[in-house]
Amino acid sequence: MLQKIGGWRLFDVLVRPAQWIYRVITLRILLVAIVLFGIYKADAWFLTSGRPIIRDAVIMWLADKMAGGNMPLRVCDAQFSEGREDCDLIYSRSDQFDPGAQWGLVTNSPYLTDWTTKILANFTTENIIWGRVRGPLMVAFIPRYDPSSFHVSGQTDCSSFATINERHITFESWNDEKDIISTLTHELIHYQLGNFCVDPRPLPETCVFVNDASGKRVGVACKPFTALKRMEVEQWFMDSSVWVESHTESATIEILAAMCRRNGGRGIECRAFWNSLGGMARGSLYSELKLAGLGFIYEPIRDVLVYNKAETVVADKSFHDYSQYGEEGIAEFDGIVYRYRYIPWNRYVVPGIISWVPLDTGNRRPMEGRVWVVMGMLFDDTRLMLGPLGRAFLWAMTP
Ligand SMILES: [Zn+2]
Repeated sequence: MLQKIGGWRLFDVLVRPAQWIYRVITLRILLVAIVLFGIYKADAWFLTSGRPIIRDAVIMWLADKMAGGNMPLRVCDAQFSEGREDCDLIYSRSDQFDPGAQWGLVTNSPYLTDWTTKILANFTTENIIWGRVRGPLMVAFIPRYDPSSFHVSGQTDCSSFATINERHITFESWNDEKDIISTLTHELIHYQLGNFCVDPRPLPETCVFVNDASGKRVGVACKPFTALKRMEVEQWFMDSSVWVESHTESATIEILAAMCRRNGGRGIECRAFWNSLGGMARGSLYSELKLAGLGFIYEPIRDVLVYNKAETVVADKSFHDYSQYGEEGIAEFDGIVYRYRYIPWNRYVVPGIISWVPLDTGNRRPMEGRVWVVMGMLFDDTRLMLGPLGRAFLWAMTP
């Protein structure tokens, strides 16, 4: 029973203050605990997901500054350009120049012959292939008549032709010499075989390649060919394309860096290098933000840091080609960026820069006797291009 003391109940004098003190203390402890937990959580997030996001945003921005704006080529029609000296590039469409005057190459633009002969020798010095490099029989600009016209930059079969999408010279928003040089370098690297042309991993069990009479691969046969087997084979081909393209695109960056340094650290090769590096970091940033559930901030970041208005409109239009099919189309687009940008950047290029991890070329070099060693391509020129500060930044920001 409670007693009254001078008008105050004992409860008010003793118990209530004690209760308040107790409440305030527990509230403080709770608040501190929440803040500490928040910092811990944010820290853990920053260390694993946040760091690469900031890393790639900074690299994207820096590379864009180093690459500079578009470098459009003045294109002249071969039929009318005789004697003209204000053309950067002469183009003869479906007609061809005399291969006898083009180092044996079939081409519709001597510009491509010149660059092909300049690029090829680098593949030996950069440890992509041992001995003689392999080159195409034909290198040409071609128009494409399907939707790939808007997305595919170049194509090759690793044995006879290398083509560059004609849009690179006939379409204003595509006309940028940096892109032409890096696309041509990429296609020519495919020719060096190894991991740049075929996936060495075996087909799904019970499946074999089918060749035609000339030995060219024409398909795959499995026994029995069930629906599940078909899915496995489709997955194998998708992984195989990622394998080949990731190796090729990573090597392209190092070759451009090597060509830039051979030219004294100046010229179009350097700008093509930064353009390719920035493009990879941008794709990686896109994938990382999507994975972290922050996909909606990608476009504002990109538009503030690197894109001008026209580039945003072009990117929107390209994205529409996928997004018009709803979630499924967007997932396809995300998958493409993840496989062809995020994977090569995070699996090969960044480890190559910060930890000297060589790129496995899949090609071999003879040693004494009958011993062969697999050739690894170092990212040594790329490392030098980034400088000590760039390398330290990449190292510190990579989980
Ligand atoms: Zn390719």
